[in-house]
Amino acid sequence: MPELPEVETIRRQLESLLTGKTIHGVSIPDPSVTAPLPPRAFGRRLRGKKIKALSRRGKYLRLELDGGGMLVIHLRMTGVLTFARKYDKISERRHLRLVIDFGGGGALFFRDQRRFGTAAILEPEEIKPFFDRLGLEPLERSFSPDILAKLLASRKRPLKSFLIDQSMIAGIGNIYADEALFRARIHPLRPAGSLSTAEVRRLNRAIKATLAEAISLAGSSIDTYRDARGRRGRFQEVFRIHRRAGEPCPGCGGTVRKIKVGGRGTYFCPACQK
Ligand SMILES: [Zn+2]
Repeated sequence: MPELPEVETIRRQLESLLTGKTIHGVSIPDPSVTAPLPPRAFGRRLRGKKIKALSRRGKYLRLELDGGGMLVIHLRMTGVLTFARKYDKISERRHLRLVIDFGGGGALFFRDQRRFGTAAILEPEEIKPFFDRLGLEPLERSFSPDILAKLLASRKRPLKSFLIDQSMIAGIGNIYADEALFRARIHPLRPAGSLSTAEVRRLNRAIKATLAEAISLAGSSIDTYRDARGRRGRFQEVFRIHRRAGEPCPGCGGTVRKIKVGGRGTYFCPACQK
């Protein structure tokens, strides 16, 4: 569930806490999190490494290490990353999969109820190929209406499926695709390549505005997501359309509908979204 706004929230919170710190120890209560790398090798490769910077690409959180390597974490469905100043203060061991200990500098805890999340170490030469399979970063200035128009051109699949395809645009999932399409007043089943120039411009603006607002509210907590301080996000309190089936549309007062698109629950207003 965590999408770009949730991962970016965590990145911003952890940035000042982790940058410049050295990894003292690694504990791996659930070895599947580092697979295929065995826990012992994983720990050996991280111990003594300093965190140079924290970055994000799509839904991946990236801890850049001295020496040029990178620790890459993906939260998938239910992953939660929290920081605590004191390691021993943490009594909650439930769903704990990985702990990165910064000695006296606190510790990073990776909990994950459904256990789909992953932690991987990339060597410098592995970084570019790994992230090259991801699509455009929607919050970058370079993600312009023109670029989006080129990406959409002649594609026949429904817009909703296009938007959540990580190889097209990186970081958007079910929540933010629905919210962006509602703001752009475009129907989720429209073929991606059928948008007019004005509609592409509206969609581009809606994607950026939706993601930026969600980051400003620390993301959406509809189930397990918590930020790096263990707090809930607040964007779910201002969902315009997502998870509002049967409720009045905030645009026209009509009824919000739910359909399935590519197997994903999709919310929209048949009157506002053409
Ligand atoms: Zn409406």
